[in-house]
Amino acid sequence: MREINKILVANRGEIALRVMRTIREMGMKCVAVYSEPDKNAPHVKYADEAYCLGPGPSNKSYLLGERIIEGCLQLNVDAIHPGYGFLSENATFARQVADANLIFIGPSPHSISIMGDKLAAKNAVSTYKIPMVPGTDQAILDIKEAKEKAASIGYPILIKASAGGGGKGMRIVKGEEEFEEQMKRAVSEAKSAFGNGAVFIEKYITSPKHIEIQVLADQHGNYVHLFERECSVQRRHQKVIEEAPSSVVSPSMREAMGTAAIDVAKACNYCGAGTVEFIVDEKLNFYFLEMNTRLQVEHPVTEMITGKDLVREQILIAEGQPLGFEQQDLHIRGHAIETRVYAEDPSNNFLPDIGTLSTYQLPQGPGIRVDDGFQEGMEIPIYYDPMIAKLVTYDEDRHKAIQKMIRAIDGFRITGISTTLPFARFVMLHPAFQSGKFDTNFVENHFTPDQLKQEFSEDELEILATIGASLIPAAQQNPSSMHNTSPNTTSKWTNRRRNG
Ligand code: ADP
Repeated sequence: MREINKILVANRGEIALRVMRTIREMGMKCVAVYSEPDKNAPHVKYADEAYCLGPGPSNKSYLLGERIIEGCLQLNVDAIHPGYGFLSENATFARQVADANLIFIGPSPHSISIMGDKLAAKNAVSTYKIPMVPGTDQAILDIKEAKEKAASIGYPILIKASAGGGGKGMRIVKGEEEFEEQMKRAVSEAKSAFGNGAVFIEKYITSPKHIEIQVLADQHGNYVHLFERECSVQRRHQKVIEEAPSSVVSPSMREAMGTAAIDVAKACNYCGAGTVEFIVDEKLNFYFLEMNTRLQVEHPVTEMITGKDLVREQILIAEGQPLGFEQQDLHIRGHAIETRVYAEDPSNNFLPDIGTLSTYQLPQGPGIRVDDGFQEGMEIPIYYDPMIAKLVTYDEDRHKAIQKMIRAIDGFRITGISTTLPFARFVMLHPAFQSGKFDTNFVENHFTPDQLKQEFSEDELEILATIGASLIPAAQQNPSSMHNTSPNTTSKWTNRRRNG
């Protein structure tokens, strides 16, 4: 046991604030770090103390591990919470933190490095019976051999970067004639994005759902899972809307996925909060994709349905405390949905937008949670991820959580930049989403930018929402509606007002 009294949060924006709120609730002190353009950011104002890292670019500020450790030593910090992104999955940093006699709030460098490499992860879990997507378990070295393997798996296949993340370094290959070209592209993308060109092959699951399991493990060998999150609404293989629980996961499937996730965690002696990601095919077979050894962006939906504060659990585990509950103590109550509000233009291929938040007013009311790091009048810095906020709604069932999300989106006023809010509203009103029968191709199958251009009145929107809700039972009885539902009953609303 090592008591923690002061924590430095090695991150910025919404996640830095979210972590600090729990630190404060636990009666501990929090230290912010910041880059020069973030000098007046809310996370800096909120903290008890703040430490400047350097200029805007991440490699001159938030990625400077040694400088962050220096700050900890100067300010008598006990532990570092890395948030997500930046240094959160950097095994070298985690080791340097431990070498400086500080606590890294996360798993060991060993677990991080195994799970940070998709091939190493697959090999590590091979001693357990974890279902895997058919594919190669080694990096491709010989093209001829790789083509033979691809033919035996059957096209389409996916070439993936072993060190990949954030949906980068992935190439779909529809037939052998494209193999070499796509392989070259995947290797060069992997080299430039991750400094490691190792790629491997996986069967491309054509209509998959992305479903992941949250796990917690303490330093005493206790493991629990906190059920699933479904993150199938994605653009560029990156999540944009998530929910818990998933509408397709039955109690027996949940138990099987939970057990598999805990086995993955055991395979790398995991400690802390982590997420085991699975891809689920149309027949609801699930396959291990990877483990993320940190807090996920979408963790709030799990917090809402379980009533557990995951950051609090991370901190207690880092102190060496045993988990205060067992699997049988955990229950799903209600339904939660998260919309990531990105400074992106959904009507222009989700291209990042920059500018000033001239209006920024949050929705309010029961069952609404907003995790954000911005205020009205602030500029969106160009250096970092363009996520402004996470809008989470919680209610007793999925339909009510969707209705609440529509209301919350309507109450979220942002002008000055384009955001993904109009897209999220389109999704909430779409029969495919409402029925639960959608997959990771939702955007390609159902969304065209024109659908955001026309604005509806409040009354029309109410009627559309009612129509959508009435479709749920019918759609659930008809699995073929998963892909070809008509978008006619969906909203064409935008919150980018004419002056926005
Ligand atoms: P990253 O680490 O880059 O996020 P993942 O392996 O977690 O990569 O996959 C990200 C997304 O890519 C998944 O949620 C899914 O949409 C898609 N994907 C990954 N593997 C497959 C596969 N074998 N078949 C179909 N889609 C896949």
